[in-house]
Amino acid sequence: MTFDLSIREALLVDGSGEAPRISDVHIAGDRIARIGPGPSGTREIVARGRALAPGFVDVHAHDDAALLNASDMEFKLLQGVTSVVIGNCGFSLAPLRPGGAQPPGNASLFPGFGERFRDLAGYRRAFAAARPAVNAISLIGHNAIRSRVVGDEEREPTAAELGEMRGHVQRALEQGAAGLSTGLIYRPGRAATSQEIIEVGRPLADYGAVYATHMRSEGDRLLESVEETLSIAEGIGCRAQISHHKSGGKRNWGKVKASLARIDAANAAGADVTLDAYPYVAGSGPMIEYFDLGAIDLILAEAIQVASCPACPAYDGRRLTEIANTEGLGLAELVVKILRLPGAERTVAITFLMAEEDVETNLRHPLVMVGSDGLPNPEGRPHPRLYGTFPRVISEYSRKRGLFSLAFAVSKMSRLPCERFGLSSRGRIEEGFFADLLLFDPDLITDCATYAEPKQSPIGIDLVLVNGELASVGGRTTDVRAGRFLHFNR
Ligand SMILES: [Zn+2]
Repeated sequence: MTFDLSIREALLVDGSGEAPRISDVHIAGDRIARIGPGPSGTREIVARGRALAPGFVDVHAHDDAALLNASDMEFKLLQGVTSVVIGNCGFSLAPLRPGGAQPPGNASLFPGFGERFRDLAGYRRAFAAARPAVNAISLIGHNAIRSRVVGDEEREPTAAELGEMRGHVQRALEQGAAGLSTGLIYRPGRAATSQEIIEVGRPLADYGAVYATHMRSEGDRLLESVEETLSIAEGIGCRAQISHHKSGGKRNWGKVKASLARIDAANAAGADVTLDAYPYVAGSGPMIEYFDLGAIDLILAEAIQVASCPACPAYDGRRLTEIANTEGLGLAELVVKILRLPGAERTVAITFLMAEEDVETNLRHPLVMVGSDGLPNPEGRPHPRLYGTFPRVISEYSRKRGLFSLAFAVSKMSRLPCERFGLSSRGRIEEGFFADLLLFDPDLITDCATYAEPKQSPIGIDLVLVNGELASVGGRTTDVRAGRFLHFNR
C-alpha cells in the first residue's frame, strides 16, 4: 500500500484516554491506513516532540449559518476542531418555510443569514455547495419546528400540530440528524410542556438518537430542570445531552456538584445522560431573551458585557455598568434603551454568572464533553470561546492547573463526542478511522482569545487534517475545504 502522508515519531494521544505513546501514523486517502513503522508516504513529516490527536469535536456549536457563509471556518479549524454538532438550543435553519417565520433567536444566532431550509436535506445540499472546511452533524431544533408549525404563539399545540411536529423530527432523523434539541428559555420553546417534548421527540427512540437540551433553568431551578430532562428522556426512551451545564448566579454556585451526582445516580439506574460545558465563567446569548422589560433583573444586568449591538457598535465590548455611568443612566433604564433600539433581537450579551470552581467540577467529570457554544459573528467582540475553547481546556485546565491529563482532555474532546453523537469511525487514532487529526506542541498550545480581544487564534497547533486533507498548516488555513455533512450512525 502506498501512503499519501506519513507522520513520524509523534506522541499519539489517541482518544482512548490511555497513556500517550510514540509511533508513526500513515494516511492513505481519507483514512488512517497504518499505525507503526512503514514505508514513507508521498509526504513525510517528522513530528518529534509533537502530539498527534484525533480532531476535536465541538458538540455545542451554532455554526449552522457560518458553515455556509464563512466556510473556511477559521475560528474552529485553527483550534483543532474538525467536526461540529449544529442545531443546538432548539435553533436550526431547518425545518423552516422559505420567507416564513423563524424563532426570534435565529436572528441573533445567525446574523445576516436570510436563507431557510424546508428540511435537513435542503440544508445538506447548501452545505455541499459551500464546501466548508470542517465536518458537521446536525440536531433538529424544537424552536424551529414549533415556529414553523405553531408560529410564535405561546400556546399548547393541537393534537394535529403535535403530529406535524413529530413528523418533522422523523423526517430529520431519516435525513441524518443526530437528534432533537430544545431551548426551553427561548421563544417559542419555553411554552412547551415536558409532555409536548416527549410527544414530538418520540421518533428519537427508534434511531437511538440524542435529546439535547438547553434546560428551562441553569440557576435557581437547575436541579428541577435536570429532573425534567431525565423524565423527558425516560418518556421518549432515548439518551440525553445536557447542554452547557452550569449553575448561574452567585446564590447557585456549587449546585453543579448536586446536578452531576443526580445524573451519575440516574445513569447507574439505567438512564443514559451526558453533558457538555465550555471552559469559561461567562456565558453568551441573545440579550433580549434574558430580560422581562417590565421587571429588569439588575443582578443580571450588572453581570453583562455587550458582545455586539448592531444599532450601537460603540457599546461592543463594554460592561453595561460602565455604559450606564458614562451616559448618566440607571442600569434598568439602559437595558430598556438597548432592547428598544432597532434590530435589538440581534444584540448579543456576555454574562459573567459562573464560578471558576464549577467550571473545574464540570470539566473533571468523565461524562462532560466540551462544547464551545460560540456565536460566530463578523461584528463586535464575541465571547472568546468562539476562538479559544479547545486549546484552553488543554493549556489552562490540564497543563497549568493540572486538573487532568492531556489524554483525558483529548478523549473528552474527541472519542466521547463521536460515540455520543454518532460520528462513526472518527474520534480515535485507529487504523481504518477517518484521518481527522491535529498535530500540536503540548507544551505550547494555548488559547489567545480574551474578553477584550476575542478574535485571536490559538498558538501551538502545527497541522490540522480533515478527512486526510491538510486543512491548516502553521496556524493558517489552507484552501482545501474537505468537510463533510455527516449522517448519524448509532
Ligand atoms: Zn443554549
